[in-house]
Amino acid sequence: MLNRMHTPGSTTATHCPYCALQCGMNLRPEPGGAAVTVEERADFPVNRGALCGKGRTAPAVLSSRVRLTEPLVRTHAGRLEPATWEEALDAVAAGLARTARAHGPDAVGVFGGGGLTNEKAYALGKFARVALRTSQIDYNGRFCMSSAAAAHQRAFGLDRGLPFPLEDIPRTGCVILVGSNLAETMPPALRYLTELKANGGTLIVIDPRRTRTAEQADLHLAPRPGTDLALALGLLHLVVADGRTDEEFIAARTTGWEEARAAAMAHWPELVERITGVPVPALREAVGLFCAPDSAMVLTARGPEQQSKGTDTVGAWINLCLATGRAGRPLSGYGCLTGQGNGQGGREHGQKADQLPGYRKLTDPAARAHVAGVWGVDPDSLPGPGRSAYELLDALGTDVKSLLLMGSNPVVSAPRAAHIEDRIRSLDFLAVADVVLSETAALADVVLPVTQWAEETGTTTNLEGRVLLRRRALTPPPGVRSDLDVLHGLAARLGVEKGFPTSPEEVFDELRRASAGGPADYSGITYDRIEAEQGVFWPCPEGSTGTERLFLDRFATDDGRARFVPVAHRDAAEVPDAEYPLLLTTGRVVAQYQSGAQTRRVDELNEAAPGPFVELHPRLAARIGAVDGSPLAVTSRRGRAVAPARITDAIRADTVFMPFHWPGEGRANTLTNPALDPTSRMPEFKICAVRVEPVQGPV
Ligand code: SF4
Repeated sequence: MLNRMHTPGSTTATHCPYCALQCGMNLRPEPGGAAVTVEERADFPVNRGALCGKGRTAPAVLSSRVRLTEPLVRTHAGRLEPATWEEALDAVAAGLARTARAHGPDAVGVFGGGGLTNEKAYALGKFARVALRTSQIDYNGRFCMSSAAAAHQRAFGLDRGLPFPLEDIPRTGCVILVGSNLAETMPPALRYLTELKANGGTLIVIDPRRTRTAEQADLHLAPRPGTDLALALGLLHLVVADGRTDEEFIAARTTGWEEARAAAMAHWPELVERITGVPVPALREAVGLFCAPDSAMVLTARGPEQQSKGTDTVGAWINLCLATGRAGRPLSGYGCLTGQGNGQGGREHGQKADQLPGYRKLTDPAARAHVAGVWGVDPDSLPGPGRSAYELLDALGTDVKSLLLMGSNPVVSAPRAAHIEDRIRSLDFLAVADVVLSETAALADVVLPVTQWAEETGTTTNLEGRVLLRRRALTPPPGVRSDLDVLHGLAARLGVEKGFPTSPEEVFDELRRASAGGPADYSGITYDRIEAEQGVFWPCPEGSTGTERLFLDRFATDDGRARFVPVAHRDAAEVPDAEYPLLLTTGRVVAQYQSGAQTRRVDELNEAAPGPFVELHPRLAARIGAVDGSPLAVTSRRGRAVAPARITDAIRADTVFMPFHWPGEGRANTLTNPALDPTSRMPEFKICAVRVEPVQGPV
């Protein structure tokens, strides 16, 4: 048995359960050992002791009154009632097997999450393909970073959020931050931008809102939502026109420049000003700031990525980096600020519809043979690629009749959420593993109460590609089991007695072998090394020290060169018209996380961010008669949401903003558009056409 237990009474060094920064923290058991206190962990280099309110209060969910501590099974009367673990697992296995028998294995779906540890993500992908033999598995990370992942693959041949550690950011000359509000999403990371400026570097922020992050910028550009692809092309046009390209770098390290150059030259500055609303002098200023220093970076987040053209939008920013020689060199490059806690690792080890562990392709015969060898199965028995996340959810109740869901709450977080809620309600059978009765778990036939971050051991991979270890610090409450236990129990009931160990380190050891030789090679990473080295960067083949900085000598393509991809501006899937004259963009607030399933259970966070709101400009408010704090109805082609008005001149007058953390009448995702990027299959969360009006009479 490779599993280790924590030493009772001692402090445990671990990481926050929430976002992709994976801040280090120490957990100290409180007297009696039933709870833990968060203490500063100043030695961990990523956050150097700093935590946001979510991290500081994370232990509150461990001992929350609404914590699930016994399985629930829906009775004939339609109520969820307590059951034993044996009864609950029997019911799940029977429900999934019944569907497979009646409709075939692909009628059973599996939906995972970007918060699951690497071990759980790996085991879930293996469970789907080996125990259920279904191709229908995907996860909510598809909603988060998949456009950047696709653009990374296309240009560099490898997808790792940041190809360099965060510590490089303050030492570069200029950062263009596109569609990222670090001040709200990961506040401890704001320090890297503050240090950049203190070192004489410049910060350009591109965001339709003047966020708290944008307020720190030397230059803030506020394009219309959905036009940042044109903005990047306009900047590249000016780079070419001003003779600021790095011809030596282009010739030595890239291919495809002529086509990309021609595409950029079709986006002249005045046209870009008309499309984006950003004046030509501001475009020129941005080019001057970006090109003046010897090194520079472009960092993107959900703004450019959650679009129906997200892959091309990220590609346009990568082209700008390549044309100016700001990639594959020290202190320069393009990076994606990953969102969810294990958003990076969660997409590397097999819960994505088209992937096998190690970031291998499910369609690659050699990859299938390697992984099948580790799993001890016939490669031909592995199913092919399945549907992407939204397409899978959209098929519930029709092609996909039963679902096992872990670590996700799509009733709140999926686009066109009312429709997805209907699809979930129409399932023959739904099983959900969660720590609280989320809005999705409340619809389940069986709810399995599972352990939380501090009660289990496992690895995550942060936005830098740094593999980290969370050690178990606390004994879980009686009645709660880990997701690995759940998969072990279900696999056995489905006739697969071996191959689903419950020890995280045993699973990680198998993951290492499955990933060996793949793009995301973890074979040289061990729990002991992670702890000794404050994390290990992948790729890390056996015998390697890990790879902190990628692409310095060659890119990960067959010929070692980065690929320019010609891209052109196109409209969002919905543009304003007479019926829906405004744009809605959605995002986050600092005190809530994702669908809020955990953070809405923490009093301190609820006091700071009690509910949704509609942010709008004073001119728009005056035109429609909106009063600050009074309810506004926001209507799109998919539905209507109601939330109080928050009037501010920090947003464009043609755009309204809603955070998406809440269910009910203020659910922002009731409105959002599931139009998909053709490459990444990422939905267009960031842009849809709406009308906004004050609510008359009772809400
Ligand atoms: Fe750090 Fe993110 Fe946790 Fe906040 S939520 S403490 S930024 S890891």
